[in-house]
Amino acid sequence: MDIPVSSDVVVIGAGPAGARTAERLASMGYQALLLEREKVIGEPVHCTGVVSTECFERYELPEELILRKINSFVLRSPSGRAVQIKRKQTQAYVLDRVELDQELVNRAVSSGVSLYTEMDVRDVSWEDGKAQISCKIGSKEYQIQSKIAVVATGYGSPLSRKLGLSQFDSYVSGSQAIVDAKGIDEVEVFTGSSLGKGGFGWIVPWRENKALVGLLTREHTVSYMHALINKLQDQGRIGSILKTYRTRAIPVGIPRKSVIDGILAVGDIVSQAKPTSGGGIHYGMMAADLASTTISDALIQGDFSAQALMPYQEQWHAVLEHELNQGVKLRELIEQLPDIVIEQLHRLLLIPGAKRLLSSSTFDWHSSSLTQVLEKLQFRRRNFSND
Ligand SMILES: Cc1cc2nc3c(=O)[nH]c(=O)nc-3n(C[C@H](O)[C@H](O)[C@H](O)COP(=O)(O)OP(=O)(O)OC[C@H]3O[C@@H](n4cnc5c(N)ncnc54)[C@H](O)[C@@H]3O)c2cc1C
Repeated sequence: MDIPVSSDVVVIGAGPAGARTAERLASMGYQALLLEREKVIGEPVHCTGVVSTECFERYELPEELILRKINSFVLRSPSGRAVQIKRKQTQAYVLDRVELDQELVNRAVSSGVSLYTEMDVRDVSWEDGKAQISCKIGSKEYQIQSKIAVVATGYGSPLSRKLGLSQFDSYVSGSQAIVDAKGIDEVEVFTGSSLGKGGFGWIVPWRENKALVGLLTREHTVSYMHALINKLQDQGRIGSILKTYRTRAIPVGIPRKSVIDGILAVGDIVSQAKPTSGGGIHYGMMAADLASTTISDALIQGDFSAQALMPYQEQWHAVLEHELNQGVKLRELIEQLPDIVIEQLHRLLLIPGAKRLLSSSTFDWHSSSLTQVLEKLQFRRRNFSND
């Protein structure tokens, strides 16, 4: 196979963050290579594919990707009590995540990106004023040079530590399965200690007579997942497991370093995901847009130093840092709550105003609304206990 030995930019990882970065750069007229380790784009999938309407519209995603519209969900307390949180308008969509990744990569290729799959990047370094990328297809090794490299390899990538980019040891891990399920029409979210520390679970209607069941928790993910599946099967709500996704970690923390000389990191690798729900598609794509603008400026100036790439870091921090900070605090608070308190908070959701506040919270920017809900509920609890 003919692999170019040099390029303006090499993007490593063809998830949403990498594909979007590559697409934007190619559409600005730069040579961009997109290197992906897997053979099939989007596989193996681990994600539920839920994106906000804001994300869907911002990136003009095609209607064909939509499996479900979400304008309400049922929130279950640890004891199983249900409250429906509803909005008139659609808040989010369930997309086919494999098809989403393929759509984003197809857009990149149509814009002029050269895509190489089964290309495992083993090392990236900055030497002699160039990014040096060492990669392998099968047993064949390649060396590519570029003016700038973008690392978008997801959380837990060894490249992160190797490059000295910030990577948090604090994470939650998610597991998911496709199950047989008839009559599941609404998203349900489960809470409580049966899902582990700070854990929550979900059942999301998927394709016909199928649903996604998953959870996100701090530890022992697989055993909590088995318990959730068994419980739903015992209740007769779901049937057999059709496919189990692999368990994946999601970072919880705000990184300080996402650029070094000649190299930027985008997406989950630098914690561009919501610490509360774990959603990272939208944040990663937004950061990709900021990264590509900074890269273009650096290419025009011919300056690839960390200082020249710093506007990307400053800009994405300006957009996401507050939300990530609040999300981390909220997650830490929720992780401290025993079931009895979650149960009380759940009951207090019946107070007019609290539920409205929660349902009016925007899908991707929910920290302030959630914080207000908790403050309101804690205030009520104090007042109740003083009565
Ligand atoms: C159970 C679960 C459910 C989730 N549900 C949602 C959801 O509903 N909505 C949402 O917004 N987010 C969700 N997420 C989070 C979401 O999946 C991530 O935030 C998102 O995929 C991050 O995108 P990314 O491009 O940074 O990384 P990734 O999507 O992880 O893509 C990284 C790519 O890099 C490739 N790669 C890695 N190493 C190399 C290498 N050395 N060489 C070449 N290629 C490499 C990988 O193969 C992969 O294709 C969920 C996560 C989990 C675990």
